[in-house]
Amino acid sequence: MENEKKIVGRCPKCGGNVVKTCKGFRCENSIGDNPSCNLNINGILGNRKMSDDEITELLTNRRIMLDGFMSKEGKAFPTVLELTDNGEVLMQSVIGKCPNCGGDIRVGNRAFNCSNFTNQTSKCEFSIWRNIGGHQLTLTEAQEICEKGITSAELEMYRDDGSVYRKRLGLSPDKLQIVKI
Ligand SMILES: [Zn+2]
Ligand SMILES: [Zn+2]
Repeated sequence: MENEKKIVGRCPKCGGNVVKTCKGFRCENSIGDNPSCNLNINGILGNRKMSDDEITELLTNRRIMLDGFMSKEGKAFPTVLELTDNGEVLMQSVIGKCPNCGGDIRVGNRAFNCSNFTNQTSKCEFSIWRNIGGHQLTLTEAQEICEKGITSAELEMYRDDGSVYRKRLGLSPDKLQIVKI
């Protein structure tokens, strides 16, 4: 099986297979003497090694929220990777607009925070914990709270005694707190 290849997903530019290589991931049509595509995703992004499953999710959904990227100063940070139509991978920490003040909401290590938190003239303390009741919020769920004021589905959460309950997460009427609905 010397021509066996590991396919991780579909190319956003040409629809070809994206395969795993020694340096990362590339479109099958970018390989060879007359390449018709140039999709090439490095296996290490932001000093973080990308797993095959993460690349599959990025190719399928065009975005993925991940922890463990490393700054030059050696600090770990989360971000959203976004795959453009041109096949570029962008790092984007803004996930939506603040329902309280309209500022940018950024993903942080422990919470999604309003960027106006440090604004001296109009400070906004809106934030959404990333872990609520033992449920790790997904990017989609956080965006639903920001855009629609409530998650579309009930989320599985856990009490101190281990019992499970399911609630939707949404905004309080004053749009400052996250409440279980
Ligand atoms: Zn391609
Ligand atoms: Zn705000």
